Amino acid sequence: MKQSMSFIPTLREVPADADVKSHQLLLRAGFIRQNASGVYTYLPLGRKVLQKVEAIIRDEMNHAGAAELFMPALQQAELWQESGRWYSYGPELMRLKDRNDREFALGATHEEVITSLVRDEVKSYKRLPLTLYQIQTKYRDEKRPRFGLLRGREFIMKDAYSFHASQESLDEVYERIFQAYSNVFRRCGLNFRAVIADSGAMGGKDTHEFMVLSDIGEDTIAYSDTSDFAANIEMAPVTAVYEKSSDPAKELEKVRTEGKKTIEEVSSFLNVEEKDCIKSLLFKIDDRFVLVLVRGDHEVNDIKLKNYYGAATVELADTITTKEILGCSVGSLGPIGVDGVEVLADLAVEAIVNGVCGANEEDYHYTNVNPDRDLKVSTYTDLRFIKEGDPSPDGQGTIVFAKGIEVGHVFKLGTRYSESMNAEILDENGRSKPMIMGCYGIGVSRTMAAVAEQFNDENGLVWPTNISPFDVHLIAVNTKDNAQAELAEALYSSLQQAGMEILLDDRQERPGVKFADADLIGLPIRVTIGKKASEGIVEVKIRKNGEMQEIHKDDLADTLK
Ligand code: ATP
Ligand code: MG
Ligand code: MG
Ligand code: MG
Repeated sequence: MKQSMSFIPTLREVPADADVKSHQLLLRAGFIRQNASGVYTYLPLGRKVLQKVEAIIRDEMNHAGAAELFMPALQQAELWQESGRWYSYGPELMRLKDRNDREFALGATHEEVITSLVRDEVKSYKRLPLTLYQIQTKYRDEKRPRFGLLRGREFIMKDAYSFHASQESLDEVYERIFQAYSNVFRRCGLNFRAVIADSGAMGGKDTHEFMVLSDIGEDTIAYSDTSDFAANIEMAPVTAVYEKSSDPAKELEKVRTEGKKTIEEVSSFLNVEEKDCIKSLLFKIDDRFVLVLVRGDHEVNDIKLKNYYGAATVELADTITTKEILGCSVGSLGPIGVDGVEVLADLAVEAIVNGVCGANEEDYHYTNVNPDRDLKVSTYTDLRFIKEGDPSPDGQGTIVFAKGIEVGHVFKLGTRYSESMNAEILDENGRSKPMIMGCYGIGVSRTMAAVAEQFNDENGLVWPTNISPFDVHLIAVNTKDNAQAELAEALYSSLQQAGMEILLDDRQERPGVKFADADLIGLPIRVTIGKKASEGIVEVKIRKNGEMQEIHKDDLADTLK
């Protein structure tokens, strides 16, 4: 591509409203422009990076046995009503009406559409497993769109869905896609960790997030410095301890933000035996965590829940170890889901304030609770249950904390959608049963921004070779000089013939401008054609380390390969 014919509007100044590196640099280097809050145009260079990321994803997904399709972004409300998410998804789902007043959603995700498709077409276990994926624009009316492409309201996602006749088949495909995701992020050059995510709902093996390590990440992950153990600490119980007071509302607030109590104090306040604290609530007590069991009435969206409760069973002992706590949160949050920990804590605090403490009771679960989406919950000061420096739960190494950007998420859905939407197959014995499903997402545009976040220096972006928009930035210092212009044209075509993608800066700009733009754009290799053009000598500069070397034009293609 010749730069004079492309559209790469670079900026010298740092845009005022861009507060993270990737956002600033993608704007400054002319990769993207903002259109509305959380809505972006991908300019030619940005588009090229996306295409490279997408090509890697397609390669890995196809290799994993998934078939590509393309589903509508415009989705009828009826499907979302069938799954129930029309009511539970909350304001993040963009809703609209057509001219006849029929309701629609703009796809935030595609479980409903794909489940209805497969339900109508697949009737026998013989056709399974089936894994389908698409790369498509998603819409989510995020409360806080920010950090440029990292949290948009319109963004590009690769989403995949798998359908199975047995749990073993799901496990197998999950493993394969997990591997494909690891390959994708490795090929994009990213420093990432696959972490156990939201493990409460169905056990730690059943959902993982792929986290790019970065200080601006919105998630905190705990990982072992020597083994593969890594977990998102959002699964952690809560830190807050009640202090008795005559003003419950004020105390509620206090509980949510601070406070420390000993076990004795809590149990005496609750007027229960210390051992029964297990049945009442739990928070952080000094450095120990105890669990919560609460019940009360609660309203979720328009649904009134009676005797709502949730529980996890941690021993209230002096010797709770990180490992035990992890194990319990994995195993016992069960129906409420791990996100429900915050809900639980909220309810627990309320229950305590109102003097209600309850026992376990069956069939009153509200499943798949998602705070913020389903319930308003308060923020707690410290959601950690595992501390830096703790021994890793797998017994290997020490826990380190890091911030992460979630670029991918794999999830064993089970029969959540197939049951509510009647997606059934006949098994070997001719019996009807719901399909078992998995879903798998990669934030394509977020991945591009995450790479920009990890690969930059004070002069601009530094693209990893695999997803750089071009391989080589070819620059003629003075395009009016015949020898330079001719050599530039000759190398432009010969390097392309040798299989490289070339960006030729053929603009009539000062050399300083061209070099600054080249650094900003960040292609891995810069080839400069200057005064020695008549001798056939060019200068090669490696973007990531600044190394320079003079090379004869005839040796160039071989050197660059
Ligand atoms: P987050 O926790 O960041 O809100 P999520 O858990 O809601 O993300 P998923 O529903 O798991 O996201 O979607 C799959 C992938 O889509 C995510 O792993 C992420 O890479 C990407 N993604 C989600 N929301 C956004 C967004 N607002 N902008 C860009 N990418 C997003
Ligand atoms: Mg989200
Ligand atoms: Mg998430
Ligand atoms: Mg997620």
